[in-house]
Amino acid sequence: MTEVAVIGCGVVGAMIAYELSSIPDLRITVFDRQQPAQASTGAALGVLMGAISQKVKGRSWKLRQASMQRYETLVEELGHPVPYNRQGIVMLCFDEAELPRWQSLINIRQTQGWPIEQWDASKLRSRCPHIQHPGLAAAIYSPCDRQIDPTALTLALVEAAKQRGVRFEFDRPVLSIRSADHHAQQVVTASENLSVDWVVVAAGLGSTELTRSLDAPLDLRPVLGQAIKIQLPESIGDASFQPVITGDDVHLVPLGNHQYWIGATVELPDEAGIVAEASPDRLERVFEDAIAFCPALANAKILQTWSGLRPRPHNQPAPVIGLLSGYDNVLLATGHYRNGVLLAPATATAVCDAIASPTQGTA
Ligand SMILES: Cc1cc2nc3c(=O)[nH]c(=O)nc-3n(C[C@H](O)[C@H](O)[C@H](O)COP(=O)(O)OP(=O)(O)OC[C@H]3O[C@@H](n4cnc5c(N)ncnc54)[C@H](O)[C@@H]3O)c2cc1C
Repeated sequence: MTEVAVIGCGVVGAMIAYELSSIPDLRITVFDRQQPAQASTGAALGVLMGAISQKVKGRSWKLRQASMQRYETLVEELGHPVPYNRQGIVMLCFDEAELPRWQSLINIRQTQGWPIEQWDASKLRSRCPHIQHPGLAAAIYSPCDRQIDPTALTLALVEAAKQRGVRFEFDRPVLSIRSADHHAQQVVTASENLSVDWVVVAAGLGSTELTRSLDAPLDLRPVLGQAIKIQLPESIGDASFQPVITGDDVHLVPLGNHQYWIGATVELPDEAGIVAEASPDRLERVFEDAIAFCPALANAKILQTWSGLRPRPHNQPAPVIGLLSGYDNVLLATGHYRNGVLLAPATATAVCDAIASPTQGTA
């Protein structure tokens, strides 16, 4: 048996554990210092911006495309209900000068088999009557993009992986990874030293500390995000067509029962990597931006506000997937910044490939 330890049980660690569990002869243990889906994953909105992103080639597009394809089969396969909005994403365009860039994306996506459409203001009014803004130049509709509940997804992955024999140890911080000659040997917790063949570091912002114990610290910086859950007195728009609406980087995410998530702020840390406290003013501004394109939100009751920290790699692109420099059995699967829910499936595939065929390297 090959012994694999996955450190971290956010959406990325849970996805990796689930996908690894279909490979024969692996014994898999997942450690988390908290319960699952508590850190960045617990704050996320689960908007899967694949086809509508401006990434059209290279690693970024490949990861997006592979993830979007995997989601379509995964959700059914899990056997636990996970809220999954298949009605697409509508991106509002306020600047006419942006339209040639969108047209070029539409042309590229057509050839890639991910059709997206440009709507003029009257088409937008007929499809999404709750969206009204005098400055709207057009909207881009991406029917193949999705939104998923990140916490429900993570918990469903944990349950499905448990059924396939994965061991989960929650409230069990990994204190360090012991190594010799640049080969990880043991994962150390307060109650056990697990001897390992592979370690997968999927610990979000905790990955920095863990890699420090291997003398190869990965520099990840926190980026604060705040969001709101609201309740409306009645339905808005067309009840049978409720896609995610995105305007000026603010998402309006339908949840059913006249409830929506709105968010999120993107609050960068200072030079030293210190992030500001979550302040109500920034969140208030996001809410006002949403009301500006969906006036009915002014009647909403705020049910909940929250914040979370996104793990952003410093001086390298997100995410970080592959062998830790100098080590032959420590895989990094971390630093997903704003797209960890979207990119979790492709990340898990890369980890599976690396463990199943170690000589082929990783993404
Ligand atoms: C407000 C907000 C909105 C977002 N919206 C979206 C969105 O719409 N779409 C999208 O794709 N992404 C979104 N994101 C980003 C997304 O949440 C992250 O990219 C993703 O959750 C990262 O997942 P993860 O599993 O790598 O990390 P995390 O969810 O942070 O999980 C890491 C886990 O590792 C554990 N851990 C750390 N150190 C240790 C240790 N030493 N021992 C044991 N366990 C440890 C932690 O307890 C934690 O459970 C959003 C983020 C925020 C904050």
